[in-house]
Amino acid sequence: MAAPYRVILEELRQGFPQPVSDRVHDAYFVFSIMQALEKIDDMKSELPLLGEPTPLDYDAARRERLSTSHSTVEDVTRDLVAHFDGLPIFSHPRTQVNVVPPTSIASIIGALLPTIYNPNLVSDDTSRGVGVAEERVAAMTALLLGYDPETSAGVFTFGGTGTTLYGVKIGLEKAIPHAMERGFQGGQAVMFSSGQSHYARLNVAGWLGIGEDNVIQIPTHLTNDIKVDLLEEALRKSISEGKRIAAIVATLGTTDAFGIDDLQAIVDLRDRLVDELALDYKPHVHADAVIGWAWSVFNDYDFEENRLGFRPRTVRALAGAGRRIQALNKADSVGIDFHKTGFAPYTSSLFLARDSDDLRLLARGREEMPYLFQSGQRHPGIFTLETSRSGSGVLSALASLLFLGEDGFRTLLGHLVEMAELLREHFEGHAATTVLNNDNLGTVTLFRAYPDGVDTWTIAERERTDSSLLDDLRAHNEYNREIYRYLYEKAMRGEGVLLSMTDCYRHTDYGEPMVALKSYILSPFVDEKHVRLIVDSVLEAREKIGR
Ligand SMILES: *Cc1c(COP(=O)(O)O)cnc(C)c1O
Repeated sequence: MAAPYRVILEELRQGFPQPVSDRVHDAYFVFSIMQALEKIDDMKSELPLLGEPTPLDYDAARRERLSTSHSTVEDVTRDLVAHFDGLPIFSHPRTQVNVVPPTSIASIIGALLPTIYNPNLVSDDTSRGVGVAEERVAAMTALLLGYDPETSAGVFTFGGTGTTLYGVKIGLEKAIPHAMERGFQGGQAVMFSSGQSHYARLNVAGWLGIGEDNVIQIPTHLTNDIKVDLLEEALRKSISEGKRIAAIVATLGTTDAFGIDDLQAIVDLRDRLVDELALDYKPHVHADAVIGWAWSVFNDYDFEENRLGFRPRTVRALAGAGRRIQALNKADSVGIDFHKTGFAPYTSSLFLARDSDDLRLLARGREEMPYLFQSGQRHPGIFTLETSRSGSGVLSALASLLFLGEDGFRTLLGHLVEMAELLREHFEGHAATTVLNNDNLGTVTLFRAYPDGVDTWTIAERERTDSSLLDDLRAHNEYNREIYRYLYEKAMRGEGVLLSMTDCYRHTDYGEPMVALKSYILSPFVDEKHVRLIVDSVLEAREKIGR
């Protein structure tokens, strides 16, 4: 008689895709995936989310134990699907909460295939052609940005934060040679970025040992881009104090307000300081373009001709962003998130170095990794932070690029900007609302509603600058929180648009946070009627609140 485990083994084998084609079993595999999709589809309703917004039960979660016996694919699927209860449907035209992109079918297939066949990008021994795909995506994207694909190089990593980590780590090695082997002294290195840049700057500084306190944050203009003259002052000060500059991180597209730093001016400033102060290294300029990179599809779009027929206001916004995005090839390295403006699933982030030699600064000796790299030619594992790297991010990015092409990206981004511009136009036209990021060129709109009797032409500006209006500012912060709650409840009844709220769009000149309502348009399904619905819902909320 067979050992009991043999019976279990036979059942478990049915739970794996078959290594040798077996049509009947293949059908079972596909059917299992379809069943999961159908179960999730059943959770769709009028609401812009799956299932219901039931409370999250962490206590029950912490009581979970591994069961003794094995389970079936069907039961596991049921359990997994339940975890999607209450999740916003990010492709829904009435979900505009944050920078979460809808994913295309092509990019989903790109992410799915590696989960079945499990290539590992550590080396081409284990990734084969999927490693070639990584080079393909890097080359296509490099060219899009204006880098030379022959001399630049790219590597996928664990997120936008990872791309900044790579940029600053390379810069650190340039500023303090051999920091990788020998380490460096606390307080020796500093890095620079704008006050509106992503908080990833702090993670990176902390994890690299630079220290959060040594991140120098430079104030921004009202358009949320860095004040280059203040950057110059701060750089000169640090250099005169004998600090080494690990990196200047420029942000091309801030998360909430799409502020775009003047990268050309930053690079010119860096070059000027290197010459004038005869620095023995070139401080590294990294561009955090995880959001803005996609706008480079407009680098060679003829806005005069406007072949795709965008409205004048849209053309103005696209061309305005394009002016600064065009400078991306001046950065020493760039971070790109396909899971932000590339319509790919998490995580799909590409770090690009203009000079592939820069990646050598990260290489460790091959002798430290004896069991890897015995054959093959391409071994990213020698310089990547991660060892195992999934092929999903690479193939979903490739799928997005192939599926959309330049005109596809232009069409989607152009439409999203067109819808955001329409929303801003509506809000500007109403006495009760004001747009805070009016000069914004992206797809996010930050706005505030005000009670009757407030002069909304000037109020946001006065609240921001005049500390005698502190009480008003606080009352209006609370007013907008109430509007948000109303809109949220309406959305949960399947009637309105699910927006988000930020507790601090910016600080006022006297240091108070300004609350703002936020519409982040990223769904290709958004159209005029959804834009009108936002405006109508906000006006209705004002009526209901009645002040
Ligand atoms: C989202 C974001 C990041 C962080 O990227 P992740 O992919 O979430 O790690 C960094 N910088 C900017 C400007 C971002 O918007």
